[in-house]
Amino acid sequence: MRTPSENLEVWFLTGSQELYGEATLRQVAEQSKEIVALLNGGPEIAVPIVWKPVLIDAARIRRACLDANSADQCIGVVAWMHTFSPAKAWIAGLDVLAKPLLHLHTQANLSLPWAEIDMDFMNLNQAAHGDREFGYIQTRLALRRKTVAGHASDPAVRARVGTWACAAIGWHAAQDLRLARFGDNMRNVAVTEGDKVEVQWRLGASVNTYSVNELVAAVDGASRSAVDDVVAQYQASYTVVPELAPGGARHESLRYAAAQEVGLRSFLEDGNFNAFTTNFEDLGGLRQLPGIAVQRLMADGYGFGAEGDWKTSVLLRILKVMAGDRPGGVSFMEDYTYHFGPGEPKILGAHMLEVCPSIASGRPSCEIHPLGIGNREDPVRLVFDARPGPGFVVGLLDLGDRLRLVANDIEIVPPDEPLPKLPVARAVWKPAPNLFTSAESWLSAGGPHHTVLSIAVDIEALEDLAVIAGIELVRIDASTTTQSFRKELAWSQAYYRLAHGLARG
Ligand code: MN
Repeated sequence: MRTPSENLEVWFLTGSQELYGEATLRQVAEQSKEIVALLNGGPEIAVPIVWKPVLIDAARIRRACLDANSADQCIGVVAWMHTFSPAKAWIAGLDVLAKPLLHLHTQANLSLPWAEIDMDFMNLNQAAHGDREFGYIQTRLALRRKTVAGHASDPAVRARVGTWACAAIGWHAAQDLRLARFGDNMRNVAVTEGDKVEVQWRLGASVNTYSVNELVAAVDGASRSAVDDVVAQYQASYTVVPELAPGGARHESLRYAAAQEVGLRSFLEDGNFNAFTTNFEDLGGLRQLPGIAVQRLMADGYGFGAEGDWKTSVLLRILKVMAGDRPGGVSFMEDYTYHFGPGEPKILGAHMLEVCPSIASGRPSCEIHPLGIGNREDPVRLVFDARPGPGFVVGLLDLGDRLRLVANDIEIVPPDEPLPKLPVARAVWKPAPNLFTSAESWLSAGGPHHTVLSIAVDIEALEDLAVIAGIELVRIDASTTTQSFRKELAWSQAYYRLAHGLARG
């Protein structure tokens, strides 16, 4: 799987004007380079920030923005007005800028030099009002952006820039997202439907269907040695139950599951796909519903949605890229059943088979069990509990006139008791602020039952992604009440219908 953050960069644009003269502009350039060095000096930002020459007039600003648009490696632009940069000079540039924008409201000096400050210092260090001029023009032009205030030496400031960069990496990956659907979505299901043209317009992701027989051919064509290699990986990475191990009574089922992985992987690699869906109602000549194969492809960074759920697969792929090398994991998930009590109410999330082992606590167990759905042979799957810790779940739905993301802050917890008879991977979590407010709010927002569960990604990065994409995001968190959330939905609906309404064909 390709690592999309390779060779990517963020550009740093500094605003000023000719009025100050060459000597001052040289100082502006030096100090803005120091800011960039501070940003690059910590571990918080996953891509390099690249300094660009100070911008002092409309023509050069427009050119810098056009260059950022056309530079494939540039995933976004950070702008800072070191001095006062009259913002009419930014109109033409900002109007054509198509890359994500972060306004860094900072200044060169950390402390005010109380005893030394004079008018020369005042003339050089003007970001406190220069950035206000820039904030005005961004608002006047209705630009979607993130604003971060603070000194670049502060790790918390760099972390917020890093969070935005993480979202920009996800956005960049979305433009290159190619999803293969094997079959359509599950019959009669509403929420997994949606407008693929809208998703390609808003997110860049291209979603196309392939006959499951093409996948069957790839699985049947898996070579014996390739299957041997994958079986060896299973044995090295998981606790394979004796009946599936070499010499076991059902080892042939494991080999077939491995052939499914070989076939799926080759199909996706050959077609340059980075996400896919399956559908248990359309398995063609597949002998098992793909379980472990799907789980391991997710762990390698592929987006996945079950029952033809391409929207969740798109979302999972984007969040996989955003997660990068961060600790924790990201998985396809489904709200399955509740624990109302005793004790604190919780949600048990799982799926028929397809939960990503990147969220596993400990070494997964590779098992085979009957599956009453799909009318095929027993499928092989990885079984585990999810790693405890904070995270979120997020779903993507199509409201007909727009897309909406619904997110919920969660705390993944160990199961209250062992689940010895549950033959699938699972996660148990406490949703914020509590199960009842969470569920009432989620249902009020029309949130789907399929979600992406993330431990690795900061939810602020998800919020930054929604801003970049211009997609509605409603978040259920510790401060949510059913009443406040109902109002938020009403206001948000009004806003997005106004904002998008006239811009549609
Ligand atoms: Mn499902």
